[in-house]
Amino acid sequence: IHDRGFPIRGADGAITRLTGVAHDITDRKTAAQALVDADRRKDEFLAMLAHELRNPLAPIRNAVELMRLIEPSATGVQLKAREIISRQVDHLSRLVDELLDVSRITHGKISLVREPVALSTVVRAASEAVRPLMDQRNHVFNAVMPMHELWLSADPVRLAQVLGNLLNNAAKYTPMGGEITLTAEQQGNRLHLSVRDNGIGIAADTLPHVFDLFMQADPSLDRSQGGLGLGLSLAQTLAHMHDGRITAESGGAGKGSVFTLDLPLGAPGPRASTDPAAIA
Ligand code: ADP
Repeated sequence: IHDRGFPIRGADGAITRLTGVAHDITDRKTAAQALVDADRRKDEFLAMLAHELRNPLAPIRNAVELMRLIEPSATGVQLKAREIISRQVDHLSRLVDELLDVSRITHGKISLVREPVALSTVVRAASEAVRPLMDQRNHVFNAVMPMHELWLSADPVRLAQVLGNLLNNAAKYTPMGGEITLTAEQQGNRLHLSVRDNGIGIAADTLPHVFDLFMQADPSLDRSQGGLGLGLSLAQTLAHMHDGRITAESGGAGKGSVFTLDLPLGAPGPRASTDPAAIA
């Protein structure tokens, strides 16, 4: 019951009693609660779906590795089939991991394990993960790194995930033979890490929305490499958790894109002798 009270005043203006109208809003509350319940069930379903989809992926990956060990010199159809399975398993793993992460973030279950991390380590991990896709699409990949090592206070796995996502998008949305350049620059006490591609670009009206959850600029595009529109939203959340942020620029459709990750630099770690030149 929802009440609304009106004061009844006496001749001297003092409130002598209250009168009111009562509305029965039981139905409204039940409908609102039903929506909340449906939302919760949808979240639970997505988390369960992601877990169930992930379980078969490890055995498939192991089976492909076994095939490679038994037949290391396979050629022709066998080799092609193996490559397709591995690539598609990687793609599926990424989608499933993104789904799981969105569900974890929704429930506040992601926390960072921060430590001193060398920039070169993060760049190496992220570029190795995306290299097969770039090779398959004949992309030219350049990494322009500073002369000396830079250090961050970061969760190495999560930071490699953020950079990997930007590189993976650059590879996905750049046609065969395109060019992708990663540039790392120190600006004062901050690091600017930008990923530039000469791919399909982003229209000006879409650009402000690319970090929205489920955002896909043009679902009618060839989505053979496409995703669920979760990656950039996750990457931005993880960048914020590292006291950083990602910005996007593009000259427009067909004019390529630049995504820049801005992060605070941290104190050097114990292995401060890492050689940044060992990346490319
Ligand atoms: P998706 O899984 O669809 O790639 P993301 O959240 O990673 O989702 O990206 C959201 C959308 O932003 C993409 O669907 C794509 O339309 C656009 N986008 C992201 N990166 C690029 C890029 N490098 N070039 C062109 N468009 C991009």
